[in-house]
Amino acid sequence: MEYVLKENTRSRSIRVRVNTRGEVEVSVPPRTPKNTINSFLEQSQEWIHRMRARIQRNSVEEDMILHEGQLRKIQISTTQSERVLLTNNTISIRPTTYNAESVTRALLTWQKARAEEALTHLVSQCAKKTGVTILKLRFLEQKTRWGSCTSDLHVQLNWLLIRATQEVQRYVVIHELAHTVHHDHSKSFWQYVARFDPQYAENRKWLQRNATQMHHVPQLKNIFEVQKDVEKII
Ligand SMILES: [Zn+2]
Repeated sequence: MEYVLKENTRSRSIRVRVNTRGEVEVSVPPRTPKNTINSFLEQSQEWIHRMRARIQRNSVEEDMILHEGQLRKIQISTTQSERVLLTNNTISIRPTTYNAESVTRALLTWQKARAEEALTHLVSQCAKKTGVTILKLRFLEQKTRWGSCTSDLHVQLNWLLIRATQEVQRYVVIHELAHTVHHDHSKSFWQYVARFDPQYAENRKWLQRNATQMHHVPQLKNIFEVQKDVEKII
């Protein structure tokens, strides 16, 4: 087994740690015989294996969220100045309170604000493109609908749409704007949609395929546990 060895003059016991990258670090009192270290590691093998598996499992299954069409890993960072920071594959959150609820709340608040910003912009772009006027835009969180449009030109959008690709977000906006012209899902409705979104069939399929993931609220229960290194002492 590969490990990093550290001699610690103040220590009288052997400690083994599995850090967040899954690496094993062994800290020993000075002049500890190699045999002793090896037999300790041998005894700890199962424990090390279990800790590594836990770190891996948690990082792929639990702590991911869709944002603009991509699954992003959720990380805790105590050093960044921004509360929430989006980089390529990662959303880093600086916690104010060190618990899962507070981090989840910060993440969802941030995502909802991004949604309102992006979708408002998209609606005004698409309204210009189609020549449709809308009177009111509202954001909701709904289990079964991505958007709706009333006959008095009020459009409602599900803010969870920020989790979809930009093309898919645009398709939903076009779809709702099209309802100001056609109040059903008739052939002429879909022809109208296709005029502004020739890829609409693909975008609809994306939504159907990803609906469950789009409604998924990441369970961050283990994120703090995992980010702490785990340690075993004899
Ligand atoms: Zn519709």
